[in-house]
Amino acid sequence: MEELENKIAELEQTIRVLKDDLIHDSLTGLKTRRFMEEEGRIYFDTVINRQDGRRLEWFGFKNLSFVMFDIDYFKSINDTYGHATGDAVLKVVAKNIEEGVRKGDIAARWGGEEFAVLLLGANESKAVIKAEKIRKEMEHAGFNSIPGISVTVSAGIAAASPKISFEEMIKRADKALYAAKEGGRNQVVAYG
Ligand code: GH3
Ligand code: MG
Ligand code: MG
Repeated sequence: MEELENKIAELEQTIRVLKDDLIHDSLTGLKTRRFMEEEGRIYFDTVINRQDGRRLEWFGFKNLSFVMFDIDYFKSINDTYGHATGDAVLKVVAKNIEEGVRKGDIAARWGGEEFAVLLLGANESKAVIKAEKIRKEMEHAGFNSIPGISVTVSAGIAAASPKISFEEMIKRADKALYAAKEGGRNQVVAYG
């Protein structure tokens, strides 16, 4: 009987860990892409949903913006300093992004060296100001463990609109990010 109880407690703990892995990226502690896609779609649908020509007031937000950050030349950071240092850089970038946005916003690790943020209540120009602040902080961030290293990020931004889908908003942010890279990196570009 006691053995069975122990087994159940062990399984419960395993389920807690697995659930947390679905929500949090293990390296950076940011939300996962999966979580962002699920939760973000709900926010998006709520923000763009109109009733009697009015947007839903109870949600408290009339706008929503999506920012995609990508570390510039990250491959060369790995190549020059090694993978462990690359991981350390990812953690610092994640921390800067998380601290640069509000508690209720969603900050996620989108992929390897890409990060996505959903800014609640921010229209495109507000989102640009916020992303620009984070970009500048990264530019001047000290990486004490690696003297001389410089890490910059590029960002692409798109805002929610009733004319587009959640996926389209992400595609737009991706296009804007591409333009930021083409434009010379270490910059923020908005789709609109
Ligand atoms: P760009 O300025 O165009 O974004 O160039 P980039 O080098 O940042 O982009 P690229 O896509 O060529 O390289 C991304 C690199 O990120 C390659 C991959 O090895 C590395 N990477 C992805 N995930 C991780 C990770 O978890 N840890 C480390 N250390 N590196 C990772
Ligand atoms: Mg990339
Ligand atoms: Mg990159």
